[in-house]
Amino acid sequence: MSDLFVELTAPNGRKYTQPRGLFINNEFVKSKSGETITSINPSDETEIASVYAAGPEDVDIAVAAARKAFKDPSWRDMDTNARADLLWKFAELIEQHRETLATIETWDNGKPYSVSYNDDLSEVINCIKYYAGWANKIHGQVIDTSPAKLAYTILEPLGVVGQIIPWNFPLAMAAWKLGPALCTGNTVVLKAAEQTPLSILYLGTLVKEAGFPPGVVNLINGEGRKAGAALASHLDVDKVAFTGSTATGKEIMKLAAVNMKNVTLETGGKSPLLMFEDADLDQAVKWSHVGIMYNQGQVCTATSRILVHESVYDKFVSSFKDYVSKASVVGDPFADETFQGPQVTKTQYERILSYIESGKSEGAELIAGGKPYKDVNGKGFFIAPTIFTNVKDNMKIYREEVFGPFVVISSFKTEEEAVERANDTTYGLGAAVFTQDITRGHRVARRIEAGMVWINSSNDSDVRVPFGGVKQSGIGRELGEAGLEAYTNRKAIHVNLGNRL
Ligand code: ADP
Repeated sequence: MSDLFVELTAPNGRKYTQPRGLFINNEFVKSKSGETITSINPSDETEIASVYAAGPEDVDIAVAAARKAFKDPSWRDMDTNARADLLWKFAELIEQHRETLATIETWDNGKPYSVSYNDDLSEVINCIKYYAGWANKIHGQVIDTSPAKLAYTILEPLGVVGQIIPWNFPLAMAAWKLGPALCTGNTVVLKAAEQTPLSILYLGTLVKEAGFPPGVVNLINGEGRKAGAALASHLDVDKVAFTGSTATGKEIMKLAAVNMKNVTLETGGKSPLLMFEDADLDQAVKWSHVGIMYNQGQVCTATSRILVHESVYDKFVSSFKDYVSKASVVGDPFADETFQGPQVTKTQYERILSYIESGKSEGAELIAGGKPYKDVNGKGFFIAPTIFTNVKDNMKIYREEVFGPFVVISSFKTEEEAVERANDTTYGLGAAVFTQDITRGHRVARRIEAGMVWINSSNDSDVRVPFGGVKQSGIGRELGEAGLEAYTNRKAIHVNLGNRL
């Protein structure tokens, strides 16, 4: 076996073949420079594997492959029923390889296996199937103007699309981007995050097996500042779709300006959860927990700022603390009972610890966690679920995205104040509202500056429903029918039917 593949045995005993190359033109190849990146198991800090990392030269090759495929009649003129079948077959292959993909995701990222298998892989399969369903339903309109003229629109693909994804949901974020891009006929160069390079390469083997023409889907690894920047600034890339931090999103927007690329950005958040005095306490507590502690708190929509009406504040805080101590079982991500695994990298782990120090020094009250969790194996990037109360609006931990199992709680007096403080942020991704009063629920939902609002829940997401943010949480929408807009050009065609005007 060449060094483009390595046989691995995961901690759960699963054996599989891990590709190590860049997946370009349906083949795994080495990077021109020979540079690699090494993936670390965040549970015990051991090396899993090293994979080839793209530099600008490799990005050029991948983009050229995608351009050639875009022009090739086998893809460009493919009957849309056949395109639907191809995507459906891809989803079925993912389903057949579900255990292996979930294993890789957990090993590389640290998220519990039950989450990878049940949540992430369901999301991936549903998303690809959902967009397979759209493939033969992409059409424009006839616009009646006058008998002398016929005007109609067609939805055409944008061309070569660069996609840059993060490490918190590697396969799911790939699916959110590949599904709509492919069902509308684009070709893709997708770059995975350097922290989690493995699952995307395994997906490459399934792209080939499904029968996509070479060059339609190219999957690469590489550092953001090198491979990511080369993709975002490439003159032959028509669009860049990005999910990641707000700072990097701004950088990508600047790079994309070089040829006025179409951009879709899904960035950070500091999403509020408002609990009114009439809310169902048990529901509010349960969803507040999931809303911030799920996926080790590494969720862009995490409801990381909890605002509670002063009359129920003490009751909420003590119930929430109690619930977290029971439900947030920290442990080996391959163990069945684990709710929370390690943070993805040492950098993220240290970042969260620094926010803990900041919270303490600014005078917030630490009522749970606030330190590394060392009881799993003495190693790894585990953090004890952390709750700060009596947090003030000017504190760093109230304003900045922490991206960990870390929540701040504060109280409010009136609905007006709650809405104002919920909106007092540069972000606008999600928001949760807990109340039994349906009028208030809808009223507040409308007034909150966010792309998504959950009434009496938190962090619902569904492939059929648009997802995205306002303000500095992003531009554009993914998922649902709205997600198709991000990958199509609505071309207008005017036909003169006579010699009149
Ligand atoms: P984090 O800060 O959590 O690592 P980032 O937003 O920096 O998240 O990373 C998300 C994705 O963006 C990754 O695939 C990363 O490689 C990529 N990336 C980072 N910096 C750049 C950049 N300057 N240009 C293009 N892509 C980048």
